[in-house]
Amino acid sequence: MKKQLIVITVLILVSLPVTGQEKDSNMSFTISMKKPNTHYFDVVFRCEGIIDETIDFKMPSWAPGYYRIQDYARNVLNFQAEDGSGNCLPWEKVTKNTWRVKSGMSETVTVSYSVFAFRISVADPYLDDSRGFIPPTGVCMHVANKIEHPVTVTIIPYSKWTEISTGLDPVANAPNAFFAPDFDVLYDCPILLGNQEILTFDFQGIPHHIAIEDLGNFDRGKFIGDFRRIVESATSIIGEIPYKHYTFIIMNRGMGGLEHRNSMAVYYNPASLNNSRGYMRWLSFITHEYFHLYNVKTIRPITLGPFDYDKENYTRMLWVSEGITVYYEDLILNQAGFQDRSDCQEQIRRNIMNHENIAGHLFQSATEASFDTWIQFFNREPDGSNRTISYYDKGSTLGLLLDLKIRHESENQKSLDDVMRRLYYEFHKEKKRGFTDEEFQEVCEQFAGCPLDEIFYYAETVATIDYPKYFAYAGLTIDTVAIDVQGGYLGCTLQERDGELTISGVEWNSPAWNDGLSSGDEIISINGKQTTREELDEILDSGNPGDTLHFIITHRDIEREIAVVLSKKKICNFFIEPVTDPDSLQMAILNDWLREY
Ligand SMILES: [Zn+2]
Repeated sequence: MKKQLIVITVLILVSLPVTGQEKDSNMSFTISMKKPNTHYFDVVFRCEGIIDETIDFKMPSWAPGYYRIQDYARNVLNFQAEDGSGNCLPWEKVTKNTWRVKSGMSETVTVSYSVFAFRISVADPYLDDSRGFIPPTGVCMHVANKIEHPVTVTIIPYSKWTEISTGLDPVANAPNAFFAPDFDVLYDCPILLGNQEILTFDFQGIPHHIAIEDLGNFDRGKFIGDFRRIVESATSIIGEIPYKHYTFIIMNRGMGGLEHRNSMAVYYNPASLNNSRGYMRWLSFITHEYFHLYNVKTIRPITLGPFDYDKENYTRMLWVSEGITVYYEDLILNQAGFQDRSDCQEQIRRNIMNHENIAGHLFQSATEASFDTWIQFFNREPDGSNRTISYYDKGSTLGLLLDLKIRHESENQKSLDDVMRRLYYEFHKEKKRGFTDEEFQEVCEQFAGCPLDEIFYYAETVATIDYPKYFAYAGLTIDTVAIDVQGGYLGCTLQERDGELTISGVEWNSPAWNDGLSSGDEIISINGKQTTREELDEILDSGNPGDTLHFIITHRDIEREIAVVLSKKKICNFFIEPVTDPDSLQMAILNDWLREY
């Protein structure tokens, strides 16, 4: 395996792009970590042949795929600069993430700094004596306007570690050294250092490495086999694998995952793999991050690359990049034989319910949720679901509508797969750019052979979606009739801790909302009695619309009495069933869309 990697590296080195590289210029990082328990990476960034009076060194403000301003510069300390003879060069900060070095036409400028790394997330650097995680956006500076410059990274790992896992190409004959043709590639290749286990498989002659912490006694053969099935199923949709090697970086205990062009970085909880339901949910998550190698890394909205690492890169299309990736999770797992048709339909039902049964769907469209992700996605305030939506949930449903409509209009000759392939080959490979919002709609309409204004109107507005019309294309019915929920409706989410019952959220237009309860209120008593969460659930289950609950609460430490009159809650279940007498087109669409095992 290593031998194969080295051969690949040599080929890449031979065909080094010269764009952006000044004559005889060279950039290299050395990253060390002598005392990992202090959580500091020590970084040396040497630039040769970048000759100017001043050079601006910049730290990215965010990481692609993680749509939030991270301000990685906040972790930097001990910044120093020197010339090739070791003389100190003066510098000053000129923006929050820019260090301007007065380089005075020096041939060589070396900057060094430390990075504090102690936040567990897929987009933050982390270091202790069990693991080093380097998302390069959070550790490696770049020279302003030299993003296209090639760069090498040499890692000096902690003495007790044996493994370095990354999507970067290794440099031939240079231990622990890696190469990136430009900083976009460097910033897209996280590096895991530690004693993680490496499982390897080949698919179509391409090596895939699973770098995983703490797998315990899980059956390795099954694990590798399942990953291979996902790779086979996902890559068959597009028909081309755009990488020379792929690394799954899987870390123990944490949240989230982040996609990259030839790797992913995810956290997991090993205990969750011990039951089949948990394992299937996890495979779905892995499938999601993996399919992003197409949808968002290569098939991408035009504003998502090349990136401006200094500030927000806005797009209204995350419902496509994220939502349609969610939609493909089920299709890929179905094609790979992990999920049968009813499993997929159940997941589709849940996505629709998640979206339709929160008030946010009345106020925020999918395109607005995409645009505002920078200020809203990671900022989940108590009333978040009252005014915002998930573009994952609504986007996956919009993907489904597009797929079924294209299949119906083309008499089952075309599907959303054709759209994805066209976007990959025409925009990514030929035009070497992303697509505009209008171009995405045009490609969808080319395969449908008709206007798709209604679906794009659903994306841009909060209009009520005509689900039955679209499910009927596959010979399915969907139950959109609102039904009464048994019991009395209050409209609070609750938290119980150390015997204190607190309101953590209040639903828009619910009795709690209308009669004066607030998130953060501590419930002292209900109807004169101290009440646990379980007891309140029982009161509501056996209650009726019109019942009055007398709350004593404290709001910002002031005691109040509030009477709430319960009402009736209505929900839609969106049960999906086959029609009794499907026609031949409906049967063909259903059978091609979701396999029945
Ligand atoms: Zn995603």
